[in-house]
Amino acid sequence: MTRKRRLQGDKSTYGVAAGRKIIPLGVTMNDAKKEISLHCPYCHKETYVFQETDTYSFVTMTLSGPTERSWWAGTCRACNKPMLVIDDGQYIFPVPQPNPSNENIPNEIRNDLDEAKLCFSVNAYRGCAVLARRAMQNACIEKGATKGDLVNQINDLFNRNIITNDIKEWATGVRWIGNDAAHVNKEPVEASDAENSLKLAESLLEILYVIPKISEESRIQRGKTKSPTG
Ligand SMILES: [Zn+2]
Repeated sequence: MTRKRRLQGDKSTYGVAAGRKIIPLGVTMNDAKKEISLHCPYCHKETYVFQETDTYSFVTMTLSGPTERSWWAGTCRACNKPMLVIDDGQYIFPVPQPNPSNENIPNEIRNDLDEAKLCFSVNAYRGCAVLARRAMQNACIEKGATKGDLVNQINDLFNRNIITNDIKEWATGVRWIGNDAAHVNKEPVEASDAENSLKLAESLLEILYVIPKISEESRIQRGKTKSPTG
């Protein structure tokens, strides 16, 4: 008998470096063993880590007192390489790959976004912010935004009703983070800055490339199923 459940906890979508909390895609349990869906840190496939050992419990001392944890070891279903799983997937070593970005985003832009996610997953926040900014700038150029700096290009998309005012305001903030990350002698880029820039970049690219594609497919589907009476 199996059942699926979604792990609760940190809301970060992108995973973090070794030793920090991550959110697996989901955990499937049967009576004896567990498996967790993830993007394998070795073979990079969307696959499962399957439990190979018993589950062991231990108590660790923290500043707030003793905390009970558990661990098991498993292997990737695709490449058979080993992973250590703590607390049913709240921590996994090595850290799984971030979820890949939507395939409707043009390759060059999607590669920058995926690399920004990878930077975030290893705490490289400055690199993450720079790449998220570059993904947005390339998207603006691809959408025919006027020449100039990124803020002008984003304003151009807004003026052409391609993006909303909310996204424009948010993007302006992240542009600043991206700029800041690219130059020396500026404020450090914190985890929250990097995550904010990543979320914005992904949201912007969804609006520019993914939603129009879904809309188009829906329109085609409606055309196919339209009745003779309309
Ligand atoms: Zn693998």
